[in-house]
Amino acid sequence: MAWYEMAMTALYHCPACGANLPADRPIWRCSCGSHLNLVPGSGLARGEIAAREASLWRYRSALALGHKPRVSLGEGWTPLVERKWAGVPVRFKLESQMPTGSFKDRGSAVMLNHLIEVGVGAIHEDSSGNAGSSIATYAAAAGLPCRIYVPATAPRGKVVQIAAAGAEVRAIPGTRQAVTEAALAAVGESFYASHNWQPFFIEGTKTLAYELWEQLGFSVPDNILVPTGYGSNILGLERGFDELERRGEITRRPRLFAVQAANCAAFAASWAAGAEGYVPFTSASPPPTASPR
Ligand SMILES: [Zn+2]
Repeated sequence: MAWYEMAMTALYHCPACGANLPADRPIWRCSCGSHLNLVPGSGLARGEIAAREASLWRYRSALALGHKPRVSLGEGWTPLVERKWAGVPVRFKLESQMPTGSFKDRGSAVMLNHLIEVGVGAIHEDSSGNAGSSIATYAAAAGLPCRIYVPATAPRGKVVQIAAAGAEVRAIPGTRQAVTEAALAAVGESFYASHNWQPFFIEGTKTLAYELWEQLGFSVPDNILVPTGYGSNILGLERGFDELERRGEITRRPRLFAVQAANCAAFAASWAAGAEGYVPFTSASPPPTASPR
């Protein structure tokens, strides 16, 4: 690798042992077992936006990738529409208008492009739905073999979507945690392209912050309510607004509110308990998060 390519290699930082690792090979966690973060990026100035790109790749110069994207399905640049809700003007960011129907495509597109860049082969992932169909679709577009572990109780529509993308589907009985453990057990067989572990997923979701900033005329809203499961969307917003602030493009950040379904509210439980880590909050077979219509 030439020196100028080395200079562009992004760095991971381990918050547990302090290691700094070049992002030049497919890894998803530190050798000490902790998750990794990408070191903060330099962001971009508004004049560096590739304005002809009607996708998240208009912010390519802010992404920690060495090459042009090799796989894109037109993800990002979703509509921001204003409506009244209970008499109050609210803007809705229509992230369902993505290639596979969820915000996960931001993370999948950037993560897969990084992994291809550093020579990944077959991949696998665990998901109860949207992330699985997103990763499966981008893997298909990239020509990578892909296996998705899903809960046996996953919504049938999502499982069909994953299978239709050409991925192998493995249904795992038991809790969501059992599905993750099955995926961890497969680490020797293929690369664990986990949207909850691999830091380039957050590098992709951060483009939501850039898009809101640009679509609002290079300003930021006061408050953003973010539906939150594991947190990859809200972490991306934090990363994106942090970069824009350090770059001097914004002088204040929006307040970010994580919103969780009442029957699956892990962060809310930790927050209410004043705990730093996970607090048990539900039974092995939790009630549904939405009532069937
Ligand atoms: Zn470490």
